[in-house]
Amino acid sequence: MARYTGSSCRLCRREGQKLFLKGDRCYSPKCALERRAYAPGQHGQGRKKTSDYGLQLREKQKAKRYYGLLEKQFRNTFDKAARKKGITGDNLLIMLESRLDNVVFRLGFASSRKEARQLVNHGHFTVNGRKVDIPSYEVSPGALIAVKQKSQKSPKFSEIREMQISVPDWLSVDVNKLEGTVLALPGREQIDTPVAEHLIVELYSK
Ligand code: SF4
Repeated sequence: MARYTGSSCRLCRREGQKLFLKGDRCYSPKCALERRAYAPGQHGQGRKKTSDYGLQLREKQKAKRYYGLLEKQFRNTFDKAARKKGITGDNLLIMLESRLDNVVFRLGFASSRKEARQLVNHGHFTVNGRKVDIPSYEVSPGALIAVKQKSQKSPKFSEIREMQISVPDWLSVDVNKLEGTVLALPGREQIDTPVAEHLIVELYSK
């Protein structure tokens, strides 16, 4: 699967907002957005486009980059969300939050979604006792996500046992056991993603 291999910080600077793509660095003064809070490139400090289309496009790009999806994956997720009952924008965000890589990140088992995707890909997690190595796997309410027994001894996961981790209220975590449970799928009000999803719906409805 193709993947964006350029600078993560460049993406945040393009969106003018922290997307927390680099783990601990994002919370430090080394964050590129703290030092250069303008878009990258020759015209980065010039006049910004404010057309409706421009705003809708930026919002879609932001959401896509926040969750680390490529255009086609994002569009497929949107199409699925549109086919579900309810509000398409809410469905979209709930589906993005339910991805296994996002849940692993939200449970504190990875410092960024990018790292979470890599850990899932490498087969370090089980869902309800079965190994799942598909980052886009959609978790269901009641799902038990655990670090695989064999992986628990690795330094990466051992150090998590020492951490204080706070998780969103739709999840619960047991750091000693290195496992977490999806208590329920989140409601829109429980998702703190800085995205105006109605603009994405408008963009794709053209
Ligand atoms: Fe974005 Fe993190 Fe880079 Fe800051 S350090 S610009 S939040 S990826």
